[in-house]
Amino acid sequence: MSLDMVFLGPPGAGKGTYAKELVKLFNIPHISTGDMFREAVASGSELGKKVEEILKRGDLVPDDLTISIVKDRLSKEDCKNGFILDGFPRTVDQAKALDEILNFLGRELGYAFYFEVNEEVVVQRITNRRICKNCGKIYNLLTMPPKVDGKCDVCGGELFQREDDGEEVVRNRYKVYMENTYPVIEYYQKQNKLFTIDGASGVDSVIKEVLNIVRR
Ligand code: AMP
Repeated sequence: MSLDMVFLGPPGAGKGTYAKELVKLFNIPHISTGDMFREAVASGSELGKKVEEILKRGDLVPDDLTISIVKDRLSKEDCKNGFILDGFPRTVDQAKALDEILNFLGRELGYAFYFEVNEEVVVQRITNRRICKNCGKIYNLLTMPPKVDGKCDVCGGELFQREDDGEEVVRNRYKVYMENTYPVIEYYQKQNKLFTIDGASGVDSVIKEVLNIVRR
């Protein structure tokens, strides 16, 4: 089966954390649309200007913009052996567009992993999430705190909180997820590509489960 995979689940399900570990094992790229949008905002590009306010509110960037950046990215050479798409698709139209893009490239999605967690876990995880400015490592102040306050264990970089990780915006992101992204799960279920994993079971256990499914 192809290593073309999507990671689904609410914000805070751990998609980014699992993807970062798994791409090292599979030697394929981690493609996060959220990261791509944040980079665009930071660089002050045209795309960045269009999406900045949308990201601050926790709403969805329009499908046409999102689909076009994903199409460009998946056409790059480093995706030829597979990829982990994290945070895309978030609407059924995006899921349909992904099928078309892959079809155009002569390939087919292998797995849709759905990391299931409830709203209270999401809020607790995200409001306590801190990220290294330098290497991107993700911490949780309650469950996975850095050894030294505000500093990355790996590279000593400064830790920061994402602008959209405050409680109010997180609750909106969860609502947007339930309305728009939950139907994507059904979409993949119908295609027999959905694998549901308990996103609250801990990083090691989640990674093991994904590996068992992929190596089956
Ligand atoms: P994330 O890092 O995946 O939580 O994404 C951060 C923000 O980027 C989201 O709250 C959206 O505003 C935007 N975003 C990321 N991926 C998508 C997508 N597939 N469709 C629409 N908006 C997205």
